[in-house]
Amino acid sequence: MDTPKRSLVTANRVLAREGVLDAFGHVSLRDPADAGRFFLSRSLAPELVDEVDILDFDLTSQPVTPTEQALYSERVIHGAIYRARPDVMAICHHHAPPLLPFCLADLKLQVVTQLGATIGKQVPIWDQRDEFGATNHLVVREDEAASLARCLGSHSIVLMKRHGATVVGSSIEELAFRSIYSCRDAELQLRAMTYGPIDAFSDAEIDLAARYPAATLARAWHYWRTRAATV
Ligand code: MN
Repeated sequence: MDTPKRSLVTANRVLAREGVLDAFGHVSLRDPADAGRFFLSRSLAPELVDEVDILDFDLTSQPVTPTEQALYSERVIHGAIYRARPDVMAICHHHAPPLLPFCLADLKLQVVTQLGATIGKQVPIWDQRDEFGATNHLVVREDEAASLARCLGSHSIVLMKRHGATVVGSSIEELAFRSIYSCRDAELQLRAMTYGPIDAFSDAEIDLAARYPAATLARAWHYWRTRAATV
């Protein structure tokens, strides 16, 4: 059994290997031993993260131990969501290309496959412009992050207009599954739409399909972590 920090290193490499994260984007894990803290890397491309890079943060997204190291500018996203959502244990913020068309065009992200049901029935879209006017489209202030967390509400993914997405999970395995399969589902949806209107899952079907047994998440995690060569 991996330590929480080791699991977070694995998640960094898995999400990079599977195309969700590249030089940018980040993934965090709430400290299982202290709900008022979370683990997040120092500013580093996720594929390069190792255990020594993981720092402890409080829920105001400040490092527990002051450091001179560069930190992710958008780390406030993590603290704000952990404060608002006690059920959330892991968070990924990313700019994965498969989801970006849904943050740019008038397109609704829908569930088109059984594994894509992890997206959930509704995906809110947050537009930083609505409350904050002209910005550089980075979420760096507490009030911006709190606004994003409010828009996420009780959902699993919030799309960010002209920016990317933030995904939450009740475990690191669920977060990886949701982050990866939401991108795969988005790719398939876009590809199918080039042939005409699509016939997506109904709400009832999403509810049924999204009840993934623990073995499903474990099987996917085992596969991804092996592919990412972290075992
Ligand atoms: Mn971002």
